Amino acid sequence: MDTGRKIIIVVMDGLGDRAVKELGYRTPLQAATKPNLDWFARNGTSGCMDVIGPGIRPGSDTSHLAILGYDPFTVYTGRGPFEAAGVGLMGKNGDIAFRCNFATVDHKMDVLDRRAGRIKEPDTGELVKALDGLEVNGFEAVVKEATEHRAVLLLSGSGLDPRVTDADPHAVAKVQTSRPLVPEAKRTADAVNEFVRRSYEILDAHPVNVRRRMEGLLPANVLLPRGAGTFPDLEPFRKKHGLAGSCVAGVSLIKGICRVCGLDIVEAPGATGGLDTDMASKANTALRELERKDFVLMNVKAADIVSHDGNARRKIEVIERLDSMAGILKDGLPEGAAIAFCADHCTPVTRMDHSGDPVPLTIYSETSIKDGVKSYDEVSCASGALGRTRGKDLLPIMVDKVDRSKKFGA
Ligand code: ZN
Ligand code: ZN
Repeated sequence: MDTGRKIIIVVMDGLGDRAVKELGYRTPLQAATKPNLDWFARNGTSGCMDVIGPGIRPGSDTSHLAILGYDPFTVYTGRGPFEAAGVGLMGKNGDIAFRCNFATVDHKMDVLDRRAGRIKEPDTGELVKALDGLEVNGFEAVVKEATEHRAVLLLSGSGLDPRVTDADPHAVAKVQTSRPLVPEAKRTADAVNEFVRRSYEILDAHPVNVRRRMEGLLPANVLLPRGAGTFPDLEPFRKKHGLAGSCVAGVSLIKGICRVCGLDIVEAPGATGGLDTDMASKANTALRELERKDFVLMNVKAADIVSHDGNARRKIEVIERLDSMAGILKDGLPEGAAIAFCADHCTPVTRMDHSGDPVPLTIYSETSIKDGVKSYDEVSCASGALGRTRGKDLLPIMVDKVDRSKKFGA
């Protein structure tokens, strides 16, 4: 029965943590004041979640695939295609996407600066226009600018194979010749090398670079591809789960994953993917989107950023801002809706990187059993009635909470 009840998943990126000595061996979540998140824990059902699997350290890309109900081990094909989709460049299954850097090279193709003097828009936008639509070794190259000195390259045509090495040397060194890792990938590697060579020919004399040299700036005279990945063939989200969905996120990688899965991307005014992001705007945008959709995924990046900096105090501040956002969601939650609060992975401030620890999870709907958990944190949630779940089980659980699940058997 289609009840039309709504689902919202709030992913607080990198939120989970470990015991921190300077906090009296509490986690930042345990140390923070967060009345709204605790309200959801008290009135909902909690557990801890291995987003991919026990002890597996997720990237933000693989973890979001799992949270959207996909098995990352079968559908993840590398970061390139999701980055491309994040800036609006969607390929077909079989197309190959690369992440690229604008760099500065000399005539011997030695890299002088991997970021081309930190070039950004509008210069990068002008330069990609000169490369977009090139034909390389029988394939079409589509190029689009991304944030700062970055761009994405999409190769399309038949017979592509992503098993090639990077042209980007990842250091101040000679531009690498892309090599095939399997014989079938030789045409693709040749196309990458031709693209790099042509990019130098075209960009070195480009008016933008002539001007940059006159201004004493480094020219962005080559585009270096890396991280080849083929566009995955995913079952569209709507078909898989029977839900029309949207994503509210600031970070382009997360937008890309959601777009490839078939979610609509909605922009929240003031959402930046950074620490300065407008969390209230994100919550209000998500609530508005739920008026016409069945499902919304929200991602807020801030906790992950301060965790990579190893800053426990600032993580507590971010959690308190996230809590205000949770308050807006609490006040505006549509009747009958189910909401989940979780993280895509832990980013312990002591490790300054992602870990394989399970993340705290609370699911609330009006009919949730109250399992006695009083606080939304790693320790309290672990004693909740949801026990230990996996990321890819979250969506089926949510679909069932709103009575939209299909019966298995008679
Ligand atoms: Zn993440
Ligand atoms: Zn991270």
